[in-house]
Amino acid sequence: MKADTEEARGSFKNIWVVAESLGGKVQKVTYELLGAARTLADKRKSELWCIVMGDGVADQAEELFHGGADVALVIDDPRLGRFLDEDEAAALVRLIRKHKPEVVICGATTRGRALIPRVAVTADCGLTADCTGLDIDPENGDLLQTRPAFGGNIMATIRCSNHRPQMSTVRPRVMNALALDPERSGRIIMENLLETEKTNLKKVLEIFRDTENAVNLADARFIIAGGRGVKGPEGFKLLKALAERVNGAVGASRAAVDSGWVPYNHQVGQTGQTVQATVYVACGISGQIQHLVGMQSCDYIIAIDKNPETPMMQLADVAIVGDLFEIIPELVKEIPGT
Ligand SMILES: Cc1cc2nc3c(=O)[nH]c(=O)nc-3n(C[C@H](O)[C@H](O)[C@H](O)COP(=O)(O)OP(=O)(O)OC[C@H]3O[C@@H](n4cnc5c(N)ncnc54)[C@H](O)[C@@H]3O)c2cc1C
Repeated sequence: MKADTEEARGSFKNIWVVAESLGGKVQKVTYELLGAARTLADKRKSELWCIVMGDGVADQAEELFHGGADVALVIDDPRLGRFLDEDEAAALVRLIRKHKPEVVICGATTRGRALIPRVAVTADCGLTADCTGLDIDPENGDLLQTRPAFGGNIMATIRCSNHRPQMSTVRPRVMNALALDPERSGRIIMENLLETEKTNLKKVLEIFRDTENAVNLADARFIIAGGRGVKGPEGFKLLKALAERVNGAVGASRAAVDSGWVPYNHQVGQTGQTVQATVYVACGISGQIQHLVGMQSCDYIIAIDKNPETPMMQLADVAIVGDLFEIIPELVKEIPGT
């Protein structure tokens, strides 16, 4: 890829957040991204734009302003009621070419991961996926994109100095949304989905939720998570009993998932889910960096481990040294059933 000239780079301005909408409702991750992007836009003395595509989304622009956006760029089209990555990608690339944003940020959600690589390839720019931290060089606008690298053993900060726009995805529940400010307002720009952007490559016939295997780690206030120290599926039954007492969900380390003790949708960490519970109880999890990146922003962390020296025990607000097979049954006994 040939580097852009300095003059060409200088023609790109403003920070964009690509909103995620579901059933016409803008999702929480969008507000988290606006929270992080507001700081970038302020440092760069530029505007924060939110690009929202969907069916019936136009009336949510005001709320995007309350969440930190200066401009809402809206495509409201019944065809976008069901996510079609090809169509949205084509529209987004056109808007990028027209308005030339310096930075484009999108959620590293299932939809974001389908959409944004297409956009990056077509718009001929790089993409840093799954960032856990974002900052910007106020002088030259280089986005400082931090993410785990080399199997999560180091945190790398990546710059794409030669090209604009710069693109990143950020996982949900990593950044903090701003408190909504009803006094804030902004500018709405309406755009249309063009006929040429309607690809007709696929048709969504039905959307249904997999309720059988659902684990709601994302919204759980309490997570009781187990690792290799839980020693097998029987141990996880103990964790489940404790989770039921506190109306919580069961999480797991990759070691427990790889051993086949719990399904993958329980996994927390770099290659699992990122969680932000009020209380996270880590049972027999040593706390390798790949696990910590998925749970370290929980409000209150309790660790139970035989070994007081593990990274998890060092990180925890309360570290209980001992055998989880003795401690957890005691906790279950002490906490009254609901
Ligand atoms: C690219 C990559 C991605 C990865 N992604 C993830 C990820 O998303 N999530 C993840 O979790 N890992 C991930 N890993 C794996 C990670 O590096 C660790 O191997 C894993 O997290 C270790 O799991 P653990 O803490 O359960 O096991 P261990 O490190 O073996 O820790 C077990 C702990 O249990 C304690 N223990 C044992 N018996 C008892 C007992 N009776 N009572 C109390 N404590 C006891 C031990 O003292 C020990 O501290 C990834 C690795 C790589 C390379």
